Amino acid sequence: MEAHRICLLPGDGIGPEIIAEGVKVLNAVGAKHGVAFTCTEAAIGGCAIDEFGCALPDATLEAAKASDAVLLAAVGGPKWDTTDPTRPRPEQGLLGIRKGLELYTNLRPVQIFDALAGASTLKPEVIEGVDLMMVRELTGGVYFGRRERFYDEEGAGPHGAPGQRAYDTMEYREYEIDRIARQAFEAARRRRGKVTSVDKANVLESSRLWREVVHAVHDAEYQDVELEDILVDNCAMQLITRPADFDVMVTENMFGDILSDEAAQITGSLGMLASASLGDGVALYEPSHGSAPDIAGRGIANPLAQILSVEMMLRYSFDMHEGADDIRRAVTRVLDEGWRTGDIADADTPADKVVGTAAMGDLVVEHL
Ligand code: NAD
Repeated sequence: MEAHRICLLPGDGIGPEIIAEGVKVLNAVGAKHGVAFTCTEAAIGGCAIDEFGCALPDATLEAAKASDAVLLAAVGGPKWDTTDPTRPRPEQGLLGIRKGLELYTNLRPVQIFDALAGASTLKPEVIEGVDLMMVRELTGGVYFGRRERFYDEEGAGPHGAPGQRAYDTMEYREYEIDRIARQAFEAARRRRGKVTSVDKANVLESSRLWREVVHAVHDAEYQDVELEDILVDNCAMQLITRPADFDVMVTENMFGDILSDEAAQITGSLGMLASASLGDGVALYEPSHGSAPDIAGRGIANPLAQILSVEMMLRYSFDMHEGADDIRRAVTRVLDEGWRTGDIADADTPADKVVGTAAMGDLVVEHL
């Protein structure tokens, strides 16, 4: 029997609850298609800070590197919130594993499940047909650039005392833009053949390089794909006025962070959106939402984004497209039958049947 090694990173908050449902579904699909998945668990985020003093222990990165794919839930929570730059923070685990596995591409599909169309705050005619793929550069830009905080000699602080100053640097190298552009054009070829490249080329030098390189890659190898440029501020508006017009959207790290959350909200259900982070080796799959500390431990979290991240894992790491289609069909049918976790239930729809995290996982398995 074919076997794959999966590194599980439950993390914090609702993480352990939702990842259990992802594993349930993974094993059920494996049994159906004659593939075994061997799972090992490792610590990341706040729970790793508590146990090991840092958000990404070496053993976790090693376990991830030794696996065929990584399934992550979420990290973070108020317990570890701090503005003290010397204290460890849970997100360092995320940034560290992205860097450690060289995961330079983040894919976030944004699709509307018909049964949940009413959950969007946008008008039905605006969201009809939305099916877009956000391609976000993940290991460069301002999140990884030089940064510093120091006291300014010129005395901008209170009572003429030296005040603090801080800077962050947005930097991109040509090869970093080249490889993410290729991922976007390849994705577009598998979809509707259009790429929208988002930048701030009217102001930022790094954006002018971004635009130049994206066009060079396009003109040399992807002329069959339609390419358009859009400035990030305009894009933020267009994304909620005409979301169905976009196919693949590619952008740098911080713009992508912000725009992908905006795109997620088009669906109205953050608990439904999965993401894949890819490089040239082991890939990582996770829900788009955070650790939802406000509902952790209550058994009411929506596990569907985590389950749909398993769907992406089957597609992108294991070429198991039938298994992936099975998961999507099962989730669609569960929703069509009216089963909902609290976050996607509609008080005005009496047909909605509210269930907890584990029951939702069981329903998906039954429909497989
Ligand atoms: P969040 O996504 O955790 O929660 C936002 C809201 O959505 C909350 O009301 C929450 O209850 C709800 N929600 C999110 N996922 C849900 C699910 N699966 N089922 C039901 N409801 C769900 O964002 P936040 O509140 O801004 O952040 C909470 C913590 O998560 C912070 O510490 C933040 O740093 C962290 N975070 C982690 C990641 C990650 O691990 N990739 C991403 C974003 C935020």
